[in-house]
Amino acid sequence: MKLDLHTHTILSGHAYSTLKENIEAARIRGLEGFAVTDHGPAMPSAQQDAYHIMNMRLAIPEYLEGIRIIRGFEANIVDYDGKIDLPTEYTPYVEYIIGSLHEICIIPLSKKENTEVVINAMATGYVDTIGHPDGFGFPLDYPAITEAAKKYEVALELNNNTLKGRVRGDCKDNYLEMLYYAKKNGVYISVGSDAHFYTAIGELDLSDDLLKEVGYPDELIISKNLKQFDEFMRIRKRERKIY
Ligand SMILES: [Zn+2]
Ligand SMILES: [Zn+2]
Repeated sequence: MKLDLHTHTILSGHAYSTLKENIEAARIRGLEGFAVTDHGPAMPSAQQDAYHIMNMRLAIPEYLEGIRIIRGFEANIVDYDGKIDLPTEYTPYVEYIIGSLHEICIIPLSKKENTEVVINAMATGYVDTIGHPDGFGFPLDYPAITEAAKKYEVALELNNNTLKGRVRGDCKDNYLEMLYYAKKNGVYISVGSDAHFYTAIGELDLSDDLLKEVGYPDELIISKNLKQFDEFMRIRKRERKIY
């Protein structure tokens, strides 16, 4: 696993390392690259606004010290139509967009309704990956979610931090169910550490083990390497405008 597709910096407000420190950690871990995905403006402690997110690709080089920097953010899904917390006219400037449900930004409802919210978010075309669809706080209908992920060519995230069980409770069984239906439907899987401190950058081992356990097809894992990530993003370009 050469790419960590979910990481945070001090800009998230409740994360504690700089981008420079994360780059250094990625280099030491032998990664090809990682995605910078700080929380979107609707997260109470987030320190970035829409203009900040839009300018990332202009300001931050694509490669630093041989490490590819994928300049994105972790959007909050903020309403039941699946809207994210970035004006749509800004989204073409963002290289990679994770869309996540956080209890602090949207009130969880029934399994059926949570599932509708996620599917609506995929249908908007603005979200490349659904962040931590682990069912914690937001029970989800995995057959429906994976079918929609295939239809809209959106990746589902296997979140290594969730798998540690410390932050969001024990979600392994939910992920096993997600992977079962994702494999059946041929869905792309993204893997991220969800690091909020540099020591966690590139920590993808639990996810890697789980993917091996279920025999997930390598070619559908977009964190495998840059080549597979770029191929996935070429598909995403059909779904959303990216400059
Ligand atoms: Zn966070
Ligand atoms: Zn999150």
